[in-house]
Amino acid sequence: MKERPFPRQVRQLAPDESFQFRCHAGVPCFNECCRLLELAISPYDVLRLKHALGLTARQFLNQYAVVEQAATGGFPLVYLAMLGDSRGSCPFVAEQGCTVYEDRPAACRAYPLGRGTFRTASGEIQNIHVLLAEPHCQGGHEDQRQSIDCWETEQGLDLYNPFNDQVVAIVQHDRLRQGMKPSEAQRQLYLATLYDQDGFGQSILQAAGPAGQDLSALEKQALVADSSALLAYGFKWLTQELFNSGG
Ligand code: SF4
Ligand code: SF4
Repeated sequence: MKERPFPRQVRQLAPDESFQFRCHAGVPCFNECCRLLELAISPYDVLRLKHALGLTARQFLNQYAVVEQAATGGFPLVYLAMLGDSRGSCPFVAEQGCTVYEDRPAACRAYPLGRGTFRTASGEIQNIHVLLAEPHCQGGHEDQRQSIDCWETEQGLDLYNPFNDQVVAIVQHDRLRQGMKPSEAQRQLYLATLYDQDGFGQSILQAAGPAGQDLSALEKQALVADSSALLAYGFKWLTQELFNSGG
């Protein structure tokens, strides 16, 4: 019997394939997708959510996130902490919908698509898309079709995807494939650089750690004032620190 590559409710889409879907406040399943879910959040998700909530990254992580060590011994995974109510609700779901809609995580934006990202043997980042057809979601019965590209653009993913690809470039780095196991200190550095973004910025400003030594005082101030630029710097610096510093 031929092996099924994906679960029954998941189907890989061809890059140019369109799909039928629309979500709006009038669907009978409104908000059903915001409960009982494992929602991994990326560094750029944290950047957007902490701004939306007026929190520092550390405050956001303490209040809304769960950090799990990957079973593979790789870098930690960060999830949005669901409420302890009877339905495992997302802390941001309300009767009127998502209360952080403008800054919702990439996985929420992409749904019902899933974006699988992998690094090829030559180091290139490639993507595949799958369509989820979960029984509770009625959006696939709505009369609207769109391409993957249009959907991603409409959902604001053009800002998220490049940052999320950089996560993959680290967690699927060649050194890891060749057997490197991150030490506990490296796992903590991953969290401190990419997730505790304000703390990372402060360590650069105060010259409290090795990051930022290549920057002038003015460059440091400009970097820390621009959260996206700071995160981009964090990815670059961390990659160098983890894989090219001989450590
Ligand atoms: S249509 Fe799907 S995505 Fe939209 S509210 Fe219903 S379950 Fe959620
Ligand atoms: S962040 Fe918003 S869209 Fe995502 S699960 Fe929570 S309430 Fe739903």
